[in-house]
Amino acid sequence: MNVMRKAISKIMRPSPRRCEEARSLMSDYLEGEIDPSAGRKLERHVRFCDRCHTVLGNLGQTLSRLRGLQGDEPDGTEADAVAARIGRGWRQRS
Ligand SMILES: [Zn+2]
Repeated sequence: MNVMRKAISKIMRPSPRRCEEARSLMSDYLEGEIDPSAGRKLERHVRFCDRCHTVLGNLGQTLSRLRGLQGDEPDGTEADAVAARIGRGWRQRS
C-alpha cells in the first residue's frame, strides 16, 4: 500500500521537489518574512500547481484565523491580503 501511494504521488506531482520547496517557503511567505525573489518563485509555482495553491490558501486562512483569535496582532491582515492576491492571480489565469 505504501509503495502504491508513492507511485500515485509520483504520477500526480510532476515536480515533487518544487512542491516541497514551495511548501517549505509558505509559512515564511505568509508571515511576510520571505526573501522577495523566493516569494515570487512561490507565487509563480502556486499559479500552476493546483495542489500547492490549495495548501497555501488553507494555510493562509488558518493563519489569519489564528491571528483573528489573538486579536491585536498589528499585521493581522497580511495573510488575508496574500490569500486575496493569490486568489486574483488564480482567477486571472483561468
Ligand atoms: Zn506544487
